[in-house]
Amino acid sequence: MAKNYKMYINGEWVDSSDGGTFEVYDPGNGELLGTVPIATKEDVDKAFVAARAAQKEYALSPLKDRMDLCYRISEEILKRKEEIATMISREQGKTYDDSLYEVGEVALNFDMSARNFQRLDGEIITAYDGDMRMILTYEAYGVYASITPWNYPILQASEYIGPAMVTGSCGVAKPASPTPLSMLLLAECMESAGAPKGVCNIITGPGASVGEAMVTHPECDLVCFTGEDKTGARIEDIVGLKKCIMELGGTGPSIVLDDADMKKAAQQVAEGAFYNNGQVCCATERVLVQETCKEEFMKELMEVVKTYKFGYWNEPGIRMGSMNSEKPVQKVEAHLKDGLEKGAVILTGGKRAEGMPSNLYFEPTVVDNVTKDMLLYRDETFGPVIPISTFTTDDDAIEQANYNGFGLIMSIFSNNMKRTNYITRRLVTGGVNVNISSGYWEAELPFGGGGGTKSGYGRMGGLHILKEMTYTKCVFVDFNGC
Ligand code: NAD
Repeated sequence: MAKNYKMYINGEWVDSSDGGTFEVYDPGNGELLGTVPIATKEDVDKAFVAARAAQKEYALSPLKDRMDLCYRISEEILKRKEEIATMISREQGKTYDDSLYEVGEVALNFDMSARNFQRLDGEIITAYDGDMRMILTYEAYGVYASITPWNYPILQASEYIGPAMVTGSCGVAKPASPTPLSMLLLAECMESAGAPKGVCNIITGPGASVGEAMVTHPECDLVCFTGEDKTGARIEDIVGLKKCIMELGGTGPSIVLDDADMKKAAQQVAEGAFYNNGQVCCATERVLVQETCKEEFMKELMEVVKTYKFGYWNEPGIRMGSMNSEKPVQKVEAHLKDGLEKGAVILTGGKRAEGMPSNLYFEPTVVDNVTKDMLLYRDETFGPVIPISTFTTDDDAIEQANYNGFGLIMSIFSNNMKRTNYITRRLVTGGVNVNISSGYWEAELPFGGGGGTKSGYGRMGGLHILKEMTYTKCVFVDFNGC
């Protein structure tokens, strides 16, 4: 039954100060799930003032206390994993198994942050005078704004909140408007784990108003943003000198060389493209196949694609749920239309599925003859589509993979390590997955965009995000005379 949800500010559950709300729907069947507050400027202000007030004391609290808090939050999440996973599936559309996986990763992010912080290498440097030392420490950055997308409703936010909580930063997190409800369950977990008030505030509302008020707020020191490149660029324009972490899009170009294991390459390509309906930043959105092996690869691929079943998130045996909302479906349709007008050929799928509980189910799609002039090649499609292009030489593959300016994760399928190494060194990307789908990652992986690409900068994961969310302090000590 639909419920009226509240935001979590300074340890209290509150409505918007002007009573404004928006509605959240289950994309899989169109059912209304609830109403959620639209934070006003005043609410944003309250949340940042609360975070600032909490932060000074929190940053100086014993590290052990902050670690224990993270462990307790992780436990609370795992205790409620079925409920949280159900909420993710209901507001996002993904399968229950995929949501359970997301919840596990969220719990892990709190646990891992707590375990990792002491492993950061603080350095002690000998000064010119041997009785002097320089000691480097990692300090809480201060007050952060976390703004995250709808494809992983709580995972992306936990990648910032967990590290902040252990390193001593406090902040304000805003989920995307199609998927705010599971973040409010995360707030409940933080509350029952005993998080001090103000340490993490969760507010809701549109990016253009609430998001911009957050990142420009005078009490916000650090912007943690995961989302589209265009939104990232807009934020950079308005925040001035604040530090930003920018985790943006990608197109997961996957290069299939003629010496690859074709069956494995086809399986991995399909998984990378169809997992979460392709609504993943590192999804396989471009497949570059060597001309000499195209026939063999395509035969394997078309067999694998037939095995992907989709349906409402709790149907047994499905691997794909509904897409998240009308907007991403329309983007997929626009990209396919553009491709067809320019000579692409749909081999399977290519349209919304009929007879489903909503019209947001899209058939797993393979489209051939994709060329540089098409949106399918140039932009993120962010849907269950495998666009096929070909290349002749390894240098041609490299040029094509780098072509559209995104560089998050790229894949190479090959059994020839010399060729693989040659290509790897020339790809401009934050990560290269060899013989694994571009969509594969692990929590400790330093995840983020390659130099100068539209995929952004900064590194998530493991020790790396702890460094991103702290600043280095150098303490110069003269032991002479002590
Ligand atoms: P989006 O940029 O539209 O929105 C992301 C968040 O920003 C939302 O919470 C939104 O409300 C907020 N927002 C929108 N406009 C804003 C503004 N002007 N100021 C401040 N905040 C604003 O992206 P989306 O459609 O929600 O998500 C999909 C995108 O996210 C894709 O490009 C995908 O590749 C990317 N993504 C990247 C990663 C990564 O780790 N690199 C992970 C997941 C998703």
